[in-house]
Amino acid sequence: MAVDQTGAVRPWEEDRPWRAACLANWGMPKLIDLRRFASESQRVDGAFAIRRLVRLIEGLPEQPLVREVSAAVAQEPGVVWFSLLGQMQLGRKPQVVLKVQAQIRLTCQRCMQPLTYTVDESVLFDVVRQESALKDANDAEPLDLDTPEELVADTRFDIGQLIEDQLILAVPYVPKHSNCSAAVSPAEEEPVATRVSPFGSLAALKGR
Ligand SMILES: [Zn+2]
Repeated sequence: MAVDQTGAVRPWEEDRPWRAACLANWGMPKLIDLRRFASESQRVDGAFAIRRLVRLIEGLPEQPLVREVSAAVAQEPGVVWFSLLGQMQLGRKPQVVLKVQAQIRLTCQRCMQPLTYTVDESVLFDVVRQESALKDANDAEPLDLDTPEELVADTRFDIGQLIEDQLILAVPYVPKHSNCSAAVSPAEEEPVATRVSPFGSLAALKGR
């Protein structure tokens, strides 16, 4: 296993077969009928260049340029790997699981040197019929960490947008090396930003 500059372990070996399946489907994902995708338990694996995500990379250091599948294998940073899996919970509640991995070039805010940030997460979503149902549900029952996030059903649902949103949420607000070369006093020492669901922290705030 490789350890990147953030100290995170990159589970490359165990994900190798999965990534091979993703590479077989290179390019931005097609639009899907989200509810149907879930109810038919469909699945899509894919990979594409991180530079296609213009909202994500805006304001970030230059990301590696990956043009094609063969280059992606050799030059792993710069690639977004994903799976979207549809399922019916208890045979009636449509859900999707998004698994996404990417390495994103950031700048350490302590030493101002490059930092490669690894995102590796799986997120469960309920597919809901409409926006109001989503809001009502949020008002009716307090959010907790185990409550799936929600996506509004769309017959032209953009997986690429969903992935981009997840990566934007995953990027730490103040990225820092976990073992930064810049000298700091112990009082200043903070743990490296770890991925905490922003919805979870929102729930924590609401619970106060
Ligand atoms: Zn640093």
